[in-house]
Amino acid sequence: MLIVYSPQCLEYEIPGHPESPGRVRRIHDVLKEKGFRFVSGAPAKEQDVLLVHTREHFEKVRGMNYPGIETPPIDIEYPLLAAGVTIKAAENLGFALTRPPGHHAGRDSLGGFCYFNNVAIAVKKLNRKTVILDIDVHHGQGTEEIFLGDEDVSYVSLHQSPLYPMTGLKSDRNCHNFPLLPGTDEKAYLKTLEKALTTVESFRPELLAVSLGLDTFAEDPLAGQNVTKEGYGKIGKMIKELGIPTFMALEGGYSDEIGELCWHFLRTL
Ligand SMILES: [Zn+2]
Repeated sequence: MLIVYSPQCLEYEIPGHPESPGRVRRIHDVLKEKGFRFVSGAPAKEQDVLLVHTREHFEKVRGMNYPGIETPPIDIEYPLLAAGVTIKAAENLGFALTRPPGHHAGRDSLGGFCYFNNVAIAVKKLNRKTVILDIDVHHGQGTEEIFLGDEDVSYVSLHQSPLYPMTGLKSDRNCHNFPLLPGTDEKAYLKTLEKALTTVESFRPELLAVSLGLDTFAEDPLAGQNVTKEGYGKIGKMIKELGIPTFMALEGGYSDEIGELCWHFLRTL
């Protein structure tokens, strides 16, 4: 498993914000110690971003023309780098270890710490029959909005409900949602995942893109699921057993154990 990572993604920081450089640094340090191979990525090109987002959205991000505490103005070079790193991970069936995350960004909207939808951009760029499996604890309403009704891409999401962004209660056409109540135990979580993976297989994709959120962890401060460290190994194994060429990109995950969680997930793939 190749790790695509550029240390520039650690450069920006909003004091007190949960989406901190420490998240990526922790994962980097654990994976480095475990002997994973790293390559760097380059920023996405404007035309790649425009495969997904509107010109107005691109200009808004470029101009840092959006007020906000939750998704604060940052230099466009960081969202561009995250998208570019994710494209490279997709091309190499690797893991995009990057920030900011992407799955809450819609065609013409940002929010939930997301500016450009990294996974959506990579999927559009590769242009294959793809399933996006989103296992972040939050529903990726941005990804769903981008691909709803698309015949070549299916979106499959497991997420806690009720929880931000309060969407993803029902499935619609090519978008399949598996909401989970707060406090769901690991056994029930894995059972739901098994069901979701049947949906993934039935689409017969050439490519699987995983929006990897590590905020389903029992000790994550932003949500109430109960996946254990070892549980991430089980999730990784279940995904591997599908036998579909797969790439991954980091979305959320806010506990101090994020590095170990990521390793448990990746070691089985
Ligand atoms: Zn999340």
